[in-house]
Amino acid sequence: MSVALFGGTFNPVHFGHLRIATELAEQLQVESIRMMPCAFPPHREEPEVSGQQRLEMLQLAIGQHAVLQADDIELQRPAPSYTVDTLRLMREQVGTQIPLFLCIGMDALNGLDGWHEWQRIEDYCHIVVSSRPGFSEPQSGLLAEWINQRRCNNLAALKQSAHGGIYFCELTMLAISSTSIRKKVSDGENIGFLTPDAVVDYIRQQHLYE
Ligand code: ATP
Repeated sequence: MSVALFGGTFNPVHFGHLRIATELAEQLQVESIRMMPCAFPPHREEPEVSGQQRLEMLQLAIGQHAVLQADDIELQRPAPSYTVDTLRLMREQVGTQIPLFLCIGMDALNGLDGWHEWQRIEDYCHIVVSSRPGFSEPQSGLLAEWINQRRCNNLAALKQSAHGGIYFCELTMLAISSTSIRKKVSDGENIGFLTPDAVVDYIRQQHLYE
């Protein structure tokens, strides 16, 4: 048993997210991918889209999928949700023994040393880094050294421990973003085939992004 965590704003969730979540499940061979919408700080929240609505769209998109799951762990406490706090709570849920994978992009990896208690994160999980166009690994400095000391290319070896490694992978980036979906809706354009039909219907029924 092992679990991967995939956070985002999911405003709204789209096929780009669902594709990489599916590939992560396959590549990491985990039993569940927890997709976690983040809480917006109150002053930044787009008035018409609540955390609950973003969660409901995620639930509709995922349906009865065997591996992908919508998780409201970050919506249950006020923003900002520090990742290290989410990881602590997740460990309380899943116990200390199973491998936990935190999935981030290469862009996020480059800013990891600015995260709250960043050096504690490895105490709770492995970090899985997916490539992003235009971003490469940090080449020098403390962060680069930290990464090199924890890098592991062997998934089976990584899964021997519950936390503490860094694993790099390649995922398919579809040319879809939540921003482009919001813009299309506000321009009155069709968003079919960018996100599942159930999400398209929900956006229409709730009059989101208009
Ligand atoms: P926005 O356009 O509002 O910034 P977004 O489409 O980038 O949103 P997020 O919810 O911010 O969506 O993304 C969550 C995670 O999914 C991030 O790590 C992001 O890099 C990744 N992601 C977003 N879109 C894609 C895509 N088309 N293919 C692969 N990964 C994606």
